[in-house]
Amino acid sequence: MAKKYSLGILVLLIFFCWPAAIVYYFTRPEIEERTCTKCGRKTSVEHAVCPYCGYKFGKA
Ligand SMILES: [Zn+2]
Repeated sequence: MAKKYSLGILVLLIFFCWPAAIVYYFTRPEIEERTCTKCGRKTSVEHAVCPYCGYKFGKA
């Protein structure tokens, strides 16, 4: 019966976790990425200057 018990716990966990996961999915801060045109590395759009090569991004 141990297997059945743990399966029940798993089902309960999934049942209680998926709404939290959905809420997290929709409320998480959107972090947009852009690729630096100079060095080609990915960086956040929050950066005004490329943290890798110092290239200044224009305002989108
Ligand atoms: Zn760069």
